[in-house]
Amino acid sequence: MRNLASPRVIKEILSEYEFRFSKSLGQNFLVDEGALAGILSGADISEDDCVLEIGPGFGTLTQRLCGAAKKVVCVEIDKTVIPILEENLKDFDNFEIINDDVMKIGIKSLAEEKFGTENVKVAANLPYYITTPIIMMLLESKVKFKSITVMVQKEVAKRLCASEGTKDFGAISLAVQYFCNANYLFDVPNTSFMPPPKVTSTVVRLDLLDKPRVSVKKEEMFFKTVKASFAQRRKTLLNALSNAGFSGFSKAEISEILKNIGIDEKRRGETLSIDEFARLADALTK
Ligand code: SAM
Repeated sequence: MRNLASPRVIKEILSEYEFRFSKSLGQNFLVDEGALAGILSGADISEDDCVLEIGPGFGTLTQRLCGAAKKVVCVEIDKTVIPILEENLKDFDNFEIINDDVMKIGIKSLAEEKFGTENVKVAANLPYYITTPIIMMLLESKVKFKSITVMVQKEVAKRLCASEGTKDFGAISLAVQYFCNANYLFDVPNTSFMPPPKVTSTVVRLDLLDKPRVSVKKEEMFFKTVKASFAQRRKTLLNALSNAGFSGFSKAEISEILKNIGIDEKRRGETLSIDEFARLADALTK
């Protein structure tokens, strides 16, 4: 089996298949043995687990996932990668390659069809141009993933794992807190990739909770409230919420609601805890 963690081997593949990396598809392939081992142990994959991998590329991580898991389903958008991936996985028989866009595939029905009631963990070195949309799509899909272990840009990792009151805290931090416990695992330098991206990367693991961290009357209203509160970060909560035109509430009514639930209207969204957001969303739910 070819060792894909070697830049020399990647160069051989590039010339053999006349393959060119696509910048627009975020093709920065990992060539660091230590980082690969770290993802595998961080994701805690055992032979009882099924794995969904997003963006397998040439199969560097996929080979290791196939060696550790019961079954691996990988979704790759680039059809020119597929013959290379098939060649690199030929020693395994516990995988399935799907040539599609992970954002369009319908992850819930895919998970039901391919994994049934099995334990499913997500592992991926994500394409950076759509990191946040992919994570939000996975969280909102309602698939009962056990965990999501992903390599993302360091800046995004900090936002995923941020607590209230810090500069990195935002709508994505709250979405993660709502559904998961977040673990910041380790950084990976840009020199660990071919071609090297401009930024440092980080591996995080999101452990899905059995039920959301806070219970709210209407989940949709919770996320709407969060989004509106962070849409204009520098504005006070009162101004941000009234500018968002909240389901017909006047500014005076929003001020009254905030007062009733004991939240100072001059605070900014980034200072509110998830419990306070839940209280606020429930108070705004008619
Ligand atoms: N897993 C490989 C590795 O670790 O070296 C490649 C990771 S590379 C950062 C991201 C991969 O995601 C590329 O292979 C790219 O073609 C693929 N990709 C990009 N957008 C995608 C999408 N919307 N759906 C599925 N795969 C996508």
